Amino acid sequence: MRVISVVANLLDLIYPPRCLICAGFLCEKEASVNGQRIYFCRDCLSSLAVVESPFCPVCSRPLETGGADRVCRECNTHPPSFDMLVAPYLYESPLMECIHQFKYRPKPHMGDSLGPLLASFAHETLYGMDHPLVIPVPLHKKKLRERGFNQALVLARHVANALRGEIDFVSLKRHRATVPQTELDKKQRKRNVRGAFVLADSDKISDREVILVDDVATTGSTLNECAKLLKKAGAREVVALVLARAAI
Ligand SMILES: [Zn+2]
Ligand SMILES: [Zn+2]
Repeated sequence: MRVISVVANLLDLIYPPRCLICAGFLCEKEASVNGQRIYFCRDCLSSLAVVESPFCPVCSRPLETGGADRVCRECNTHPPSFDMLVAPYLYESPLMECIHQFKYRPKPHMGDSLGPLLASFAHETLYGMDHPLVIPVPLHKKKLRERGFNQALVLARHVANALRGEIDFVSLKRHRATVPQTELDKKQRKRNVRGAFVLADSDKISDREVILVDDVATTGSTLNECAKLLKKAGAREVVALVLARAAI
């Protein structure tokens, strides 16, 4: 461990680390989360838009300003299969670009910064959960081959460590390739993911508290479809946890 930190310090001298958002040198303004170094400067970290009241306590959708937190119209008319969806941030710039770089043009350390941010939020919000099963939203195997990694699994590993939960990236599978949700409207998104997932191991889910992890929630259709399966398999509670919530 010592040798690794000596080497890391030497590398820092040769290549001083820069903020992944503003590219400024981190030396004086480095941010950390729960003692873990992240590659965002303190100014950029505080510029990320957080989910704050008033919002829907079920799906975290931001509501018109001025009122109290209340269940939104969508959750009232179509209650989701997950018990709640929680997110630390809104899906806005500059986090939007960070997630994009994390997924499509992987920058070294982007996952090492976004993961601890989500894990720290999970620790504050979900720490009372009973040895949760932490399940990333799966990619279809073809997409996984193209991208080389599942961004939801990178985030889920950080969350499982922070909560002393059990990571499970085997039980839930995406058995049908789907069109990217970003290209579709709300109704099409629901239809697109319907029946796209299967549970390989229902017994493992039965009577467990589950945290379903993804990078972004827009309409919540994908998370809802996964939660439906998990509940059917007997999950006691399903919490959807995402890094960024779109304000729609
Ligand atoms: Zn910065
Ligand atoms: Zn809602």
